[in-house]
Amino acid sequence: MQRQKTIREAAGCSGTGLHTGKPVNIRILPADEDSGISFVRTDIPGRPVIKAASENVVDTRLATTIGRGSVTISTVEHLLAAFYGMGIDNAIVEVGSCEIPIMDGSAEPFVNLIREVGMRAQRKPKKFIIIKKPIKVRDGKKVAILLPARDFKITYSITFEHSFLSGQSFSKMYSDKIFINEICGAKTFGFLKEVEWLRSQGLAIGGSLENAIVIGDTSIINADLLRYPDEFVRHKVLDCIGDLSLLGAGVIGHIIADKSGHSLNQRLVRKVIESPSRWSYAEIPANGDDEEYLYSEVGISPSLCYAAS
Ligand SMILES: [Zn+2]
Repeated sequence: MQRQKTIREAAGCSGTGLHTGKPVNIRILPADEDSGISFVRTDIPGRPVIKAASENVVDTRLATTIGRGSVTISTVEHLLAAFYGMGIDNAIVEVGSCEIPIMDGSAEPFVNLIREVGMRAQRKPKKFIIIKKPIKVRDGKKVAILLPARDFKITYSITFEHSFLSGQSFSKMYSDKIFINEICGAKTFGFLKEVEWLRSQGLAIGGSLENAIVIGDTSIINADLLRYPDEFVRHKVLDCIGDLSLLGAGVIGHIIADKSGHSLNQRLVRKVIESPSRWSYAEIPANGDDEEYLYSEVGISPSLCYAAS
């Protein structure tokens, strides 16, 4: 079976908040098994804790924001995707602001941070949600469906009404290798007109040509930052993984999403939670190859990792 994992030791990084444009420090700490991912606002008296869970999602307009009462933390999705992709089930994230830093607009800096300190396997089995019957949500032309499948598969398509971009699609069986090599480095993106409007509203102050690909009317303004020719759909896949992680378990199923975004992704997550007859929990045997690869990538052997638990 696969066991739950946490980060091996505390790790921290600093960056700019997308909304405020101000510096933000975060620190990731190991956490007990079955505790999941929790965020702590260290800048607020009493250090309020917000668990990364679907019921705590309070806003999905520009990013995924979780909250409890008046306390919120936004732009959690790239860090959550890094946790899911690296197989981290339990961690505490201390945040000194109302948002997770945008870093380079992708999840790669968080993946590298986890790789630097390594991971530790815990005793309890990792939980998976196995989709047994289709679960579907729709919002006009936007659709997101989870279908039964042998493993986790992602099929995602986006379309643009734009002069030189018509659409992009991505369909692959998910694996740790795919996440690390093909998904985690995809940067966030926006259209120049939207960026200008957001700025005029005092939003996305921390957005820059270093942390977002900006699509102009006739060309990509900072095309030199592109890591993949189909980077935009890959970033949507990254966002989707971060959003699905709010289920609090691995997913065994095929997600098919067309034009979906944070809002519809969260509706799908909520529908899964509200439809327990359509899925079941299970523990899955470890995939030896992937585990070997992942641990070699983080610089430790599986035996060392398990011995440390
Ligand atoms: Zn994103």
